[in-house]
Amino acid sequence: MGTGKDEKNATQVVPLSPDQIMDLFYHASTRELMDMGNLACCQVHGRDILLRGLIEFTNVCTNDCLYCGIRNSNHKANRYRMEASMILKALQTGYDRGIRTFVLQGGEDPVYTIDRICGLVRQIKDLGKKDAAVTLSCGIRSREAYFKLAQAGADRYLLRFETADPKLHFLLRNIGLNDRLKALEDIRAAGFQVGSGYMVGLPGETRETRLENILLCQRLELDMVGLGPFIPHPDTPLKHSFQHPLEHTLRSVALVRLALPKAHIPATTAAGSLMPDGREQMIAAGANVLMPNLTQDKFKQKYLLYPGKICLNEKGIQDIESLNQRIRPLNRNLSFARGDALYHLTNMDTGEPK
Ligand code: SAM
Ligand code: SF4
Repeated sequence: MGTGKDEKNATQVVPLSPDQIMDLFYHASTRELMDMGNLACCQVHGRDILLRGLIEFTNVCTNDCLYCGIRNSNHKANRYRMEASMILKALQTGYDRGIRTFVLQGGEDPVYTIDRICGLVRQIKDLGKKDAAVTLSCGIRSREAYFKLAQAGADRYLLRFETADPKLHFLLRNIGLNDRLKALEDIRAAGFQVGSGYMVGLPGETRETRLENILLCQRLELDMVGLGPFIPHPDTPLKHSFQHPLEHTLRSVALVRLALPKAHIPATTAAGSLMPDGREQMIAAGANVLMPNLTQDKFKQKYLLYPGKICLNEKGIQDIESLNQRIRPLNRNLSFARGDALYHLTNMDTGEPK
């Protein structure tokens, strides 16, 4: 366990102010930023890399985000929807291996109604897995729906804001940024630990957007921040977009770490898909989470958000073994702890409100 013990240290790492972040954003080298991000991460989270088991339970989506390989208008996407029994099977494999956090991610699939997802969450919790945390990532839902999901026992919710530029957001998603931010407010109000984040290198993004993305994460006081490179998918309208180097993502990770020292930040699959050692580089810049993919092969090969996605032919469990090897040179250890938001740990430890 590498979480509770770090709370003492966590209070000693003061988040940088927006002015300090801005100064570093424009003037620090990537090496300097990564060293600072890595140091802050180790001071707060120790040497543990938390594991979250990912299950991609449906690739059906009614939305049409221009960047996404499973968008509704991509008729080449081979659609699937996992039955509850398959989801529970994938989860059991991870649970048996010691994983205690599961992320259920999917498109905005009308067949996966809120009542159905609530039923699934209850099944997970009733199957003797009350000690496992359930994170949901299934898009924008109504305020009432988020409350129902929390009441069913879900612990966390992930909803990236994708880009802090309102015009770009609308252009790419045909939905206002404010709607996304309102959903994040509802998610917080429902009692979830809240995750959000963005893609780095979207077409139309400027340097200022990249800075604003970091500052928005800080203003939202996120418990978890998911960020990764945008990778153009050949069957989307953004297929000819420029692929930005991983360096922009690494600079962002380091600055988000300095802006939100306590946040949990995954070293994302997209980074590993862009560069063979992309996830390791993200850890070296301040990330502290890895997400082995527990989805059965026949499904995960169809959850193609972007090309070149790694680990498609590896079982999630094999992936854990290889992750263990990969993080050793970084002097890190895999942790099977639930890895709750650090403020949440304080609440549970002391009974005090946040
Ligand atoms: N449908 C939910 C949503 O949009 O919040 C959850 C699933 S969605 C596929 C998960 C994330 O994939 C999105 O938040 C987005 O940042 C990321 N994503 C989609 N297309 C991508 C691409 N081409 N490159 C990198 N990341 C991508
Ligand atoms: Fe659907 Fe999410 Fe893809 Fe947008 S990013 S099309 S909401 S799965």
